[in-house]
Amino acid sequence: MTRIYRKSGPNTMSVTARNPINENFVARLRQAGLRPTRQRLALARLLFQHGDRHLTAEDLHAEAQAARVRVSLATVYNTLHQFTAAGLLRSVTAEGSKSYFDTNTVDHHHFYCEEDGRLVDIDGSGIRVAGLPPPPNGSKVERVEVIVRLKSK
Ligand SMILES: [Zn+2]
Repeated sequence: MTRIYRKSGPNTMSVTARNPINENFVARLRQAGLRPTRQRLALARLLFQHGDRHLTAEDLHAEAQAARVRVSLATVYNTLHQFTAAGLLRSVTAEGSKSYFDTNTVDHHHFYCEEDGRLVDIDGSGIRVAGLPPPPNGSKVERVEVIVRLKSK
């Protein structure tokens, strides 16, 4: 599957139905086992047209409103969780109940800036974790995600 659309700039995006980028989103949703409804397509376009990024449900809802996509915050939440369950997104919890959704689903770590709540990717090979204890019986380590917390000097 081509991933070109993930790196394309906002100016390459159009909302016409026959747009090949739009068709890519249809294919991508179908491949993930999700029916490409109008709302899912609109949210997928908003989410993935700017490349790798982290955003909350509230962020995406605000972007949807700015783009005149009529969708409730509850639908945005549900859609983000469906996309995450389907492997299109990863969720990152940096602080309490605040969940970020990450369009970068490749294994990687994060810097978290405690002052402005910003997440910055750290390449998956950029951190090596030593001394990991053996997992409890009947389980295996799926992946290790490190959050490095930052504050200003
Ligand atoms: Zn990330």
